[in-house]
Amino acid sequence: MTIFPDMCESYVNESIIGRAKAAGKIEIHCHNIRDYTEDKHNRTDDTPYGGGMGMVMTPQPIDSCFDAICQQTNARPHFIYMSPQGKTLTQQRAMELSKMDNIAILCGHYEGVDQRVLDKLCDEEISIGNYVLTGGELPALVLVDAVSRMVEGVLASEECFTEESHFNGLLEHPQYTRPPVWQDREVPEILMSGHHANIAKWKREKSLEITKLKRPEMLETAPLTDKDIQFLSKIQ
Ligand code: SAM
Repeated sequence: MTIFPDMCESYVNESIIGRAKAAGKIEIHCHNIRDYTEDKHNRTDDTPYGGGMGMVMTPQPIDSCFDAICQQTNARPHFIYMSPQGKTLTQQRAMELSKMDNIAILCGHYEGVDQRVLDKLCDEEISIGNYVLTGGELPALVLVDAVSRMVEGVLASEECFTEESHFNGLLEHPQYTRPPVWQDREVPEILMSGHHANIAKWKREKSLEITKLKRPEMLETAPLTDKDIQFLSKIQ
């Protein structure tokens, strides 16, 4: 639900998400809140009570838009408002949301949304970080992307995300592709050895090393084996 559906349409119709959509693995519809306004000038925002800068999105068009979505889906989708006041999005939450049948995402704009419609409809507020953007469209697309790629059939296999950064509480090992030597820099020999056990060990150790280097706080909660702990104690 947005007042700028074109901003969202162009993203969801490209690349992996676009292909998954075309193949019917996921459905994404961009609903224009303005289509539902009963205001005679087609407005979806007004000045804030109590004074202050900017405009506030009015409750009626949002309520009517969500009503129409409920009718179209024959269900009441989980209602998420993208907001810098929400809980910060995590891989874990994206995974949980990917199991839901229907999600409706509200993109705010200007100074935000009239609180009464949020009180009535909102199930969850999600932030994409501790900073403020001009609108909820980019945050909504971040959420759509993070959730969609974990829906079954969107990526080639579950491994595509289960081995990535954050899924198992660690950062991923570095990646390499052809050519084997580029500007005198070589791909680690082990990756070309074909020895699966050694490659898996190298990937795990690199993942631990990089996490310790870049995001050491993640190691406090990551599920680590005795071998991992032993390895970590040996590196700087
Ligand atoms: N006045 C609001 C406040 O101080 O909390 C900020 C409004 S912001 C300028 C306009 C809209 O952008 C919000 O309604 C929200 O939908 C979206 N937005 C901005 N930053 C966001 C963030 N970090 N995460 C999620 N949504 C965000």
